[in-house]
Amino acid sequence: MAGKVPVTSRLGIFCMSASIKTVTTIKDLKNAVADWRGAGEKTVLVPTMGALHEGHLSLVRLARKTGERTIVSIFVNPAQFAPHEDFDSYPREHEKDLEHLAALGVDLVFMPPRNEVYPEDFSTHVTVEGLSEGLCGASRTHFFGGVATVVAKLLNQCRPDVAIFGEKDYQQLLVIRRMARDLDMDVEILGGPIVREADGLAMSSRNAYLTQGERQKAPRLYRTISEISEALAAGKSTHELLEEGAKHLAQAGFDVDYLEVCNAENLASIEGRVHEPARVFAAAMLGKTRLIDNVAVPGACK
Ligand code: AMP
Repeated sequence: MAGKVPVTSRLGIFCMSASIKTVTTIKDLKNAVADWRGAGEKTVLVPTMGALHEGHLSLVRLARKTGERTIVSIFVNPAQFAPHEDFDSYPREHEKDLEHLAALGVDLVFMPPRNEVYPEDFSTHVTVEGLSEGLCGASRTHFFGGVATVVAKLLNQCRPDVAIFGEKDYQQLLVIRRMARDLDMDVEILGGPIVREADGLAMSSRNAYLTQGERQKAPRLYRTISEISEALAAGKSTHELLEEGAKHLAQAGFDVDYLEVCNAENLASIEGRVHEPARVFAAAMLGKTRLIDNVAVPGACK
């Protein structure tokens, strides 16, 4: 069906766009999922902020294989942006997103407006201690609280059997998994592998901010962490590798936030040689764009 045609069903008002069902209220979402749960269908949620690329779509394909019903949420969550960050300029491409999701056979897209998620007197916040504090949490102190709060809400609203998150945001995946366990949420949290451009750059909605020159430099972040992970697997120690890597990135024009090797399960920082499941993590500004990436240390990885 071309364009958006409002139709009425027992779900209330929803829109058909590119033959995909979208709902904007928690009530309509709950009604749709209740029907599926009632029929014993396994429901899988993929939370996103939209501006979908192959990384997101790979998670949707995984969701389609994992259960009978797939829900994708699209919500640019203000609670995870600090006032100086890019909430206003974050790319919003709803029409294109819906076309992609329709082509993949997604059952339902949840696109709530801000006040549906955060009423004016909203006053509850979820904090996951420990795992949220290092790496991205050290410089983006508001970030994981905002993510955990919105994901807790989405999981309560959808009550999915499974929710899928990308390893691109590996720390986020662990934070959400811990939250779900700690709060006895009846959901399995699955991770999907990182999807990269041909030159190695991890796909991200924020890559659209890169200038042409920055886009050419950007894959160096992945090259650097890959070289470090290979050297660690060959038995080298973290010290010189991390120092050299950070220097190399700075020389190429990156403003490095962190470059660290951490335990893949609890994110404890590793110094010296690696004898446990580990990953190399990096975040850096390239011009106005914050890039993050991580790779497993081969042989030691999870
Ligand atoms: P976002 O829209 O950036 O909040 O991302 C939504 C989900 O897609 C998160 O679970 C991300 O980790 C995941 N994701 C983003 N980029 C990639 C990628 N390049 N490969 C795999 N998953 C990704």
